[in-house]
Amino acid sequence: MLEAADKIRSLPPYILAEVFAARDRKLEQGVDVIDLGVGNPDLRPPEKVIRALHDSLDDVTRENHRYPSFAGLPEFKAAIARWYSKRFNVSLEPGSEVLPLIGSKEGLAKFMMAHLNAGDTILIASPCYPAYLGAATVAQASIYEVPLLEENDFLPRLEDIPAEVVKRAKLILVNYPNNPTGAVATDDFYERLRKFALENDIFVMSDIAYCDLSLDSKFRARSFLEFDRNKETSIEFHSFSKSFSMQGWRLGFACGNKTAVGNLLKIKTNMDFGVFMAVQRAGMAALEDSEALTAAVSDVYRKRRDVLLGGLRKNGWDVRPPSATMYVWLKIPRSYASSAEFTGDLLEKTGVVVAPGIGFGKYGEGYVRISLTVSEERLVETVKRIREAGFTY
Ligand code: PMP
Repeated sequence: MLEAADKIRSLPPYILAEVFAARDRKLEQGVDVIDLGVGNPDLRPPEKVIRALHDSLDDVTRENHRYPSFAGLPEFKAAIARWYSKRFNVSLEPGSEVLPLIGSKEGLAKFMMAHLNAGDTILIASPCYPAYLGAATVAQASIYEVPLLEENDFLPRLEDIPAEVVKRAKLILVNYPNNPTGAVATDDFYERLRKFALENDIFVMSDIAYCDLSLDSKFRARSFLEFDRNKETSIEFHSFSKSFSMQGWRLGFACGNKTAVGNLLKIKTNMDFGVFMAVQRAGMAALEDSEALTAAVSDVYRKRRDVLLGGLRKNGWDVRPPSATMYVWLKIPRSYASSAEFTGDLLEKTGVVVAPGIGFGKYGEGYVRISLTVSEERLVETVKRIREAGFTY
């Protein structure tokens, strides 16, 4: 009998998988399900980017169809450095401080693999993107979930982490704008995080996958590298999945500390072949027009957010509008004992799928995450069904 390795056996069950199984049963029964459970954008990638991919596929003069170089396409890396400079006023050396990724998920996981020995401690701000917990488990790390609480605007209180945990921690992972809470980082928090990292010799992984989904016209997310300007203690991960709805294309990148980027490249060189070159070229087209393209996407999510929250407010939910991301983080009604119980009941009575907060780490309990990945009409229908089924906060 083939036995799985310890690192696989210790993986917890994927809680969201149960929700998706329940959704699929409803679909089989012919229920008109509204799926707000997954963060899977429903928008089409920008036309210009699709055209750039076509052109790259057709271009026989280039070697687009061959194995890409492990370190990534130099022109794409230069485009990333130009974008960082324009967007964040941070300068990057494309050759050594930038690395294209097959989506940021693989980079986050391989970065942990490259830096954590079994038993090493990683601090993960929680609730969080569930893949962080899975990847750290596979790396056989000791995970300390740093609570993100509403009363602290979902920012971690670094001073509350026990001293013995801080002492043994090697990495800290933060994600702002945040999945699932929609919270955003303040300058003061990033400054404190930088000091905390330097004082305690802890390396920062900053995930800014949602930095260009601004739902508030005044809000503009910052990069942690604006604070760690010398890239002493951080690496940042970014994705084309949310800003450009290119999640199926698998494109992201990491940038920051040279040694950290080098270690990530080393492990990737041994495990994958990097990103399809035609996709890297299409990525250049996306970055060239990033401001206009992301403004258009943000506009769509902003309108959806307002439709949903307007309707929910009438049902007694007082939700603080998120300034960024494509998520609404909603407290479950007081009459429910757990987010899973509420999610099950909601699906049963309305056909609406949302993700239970517990699926995002232990500090996600008491909430559900709603993805704004359906049309305004479907969100109006969602609110109507919730009202008709008698759900109030
Ligand atoms: N980080 C966060 C916070 C996410 O929510 C996601 C996807 N949902 C990712 C990273 C992974 O994105 P991708 O691998 O598509 O770049």
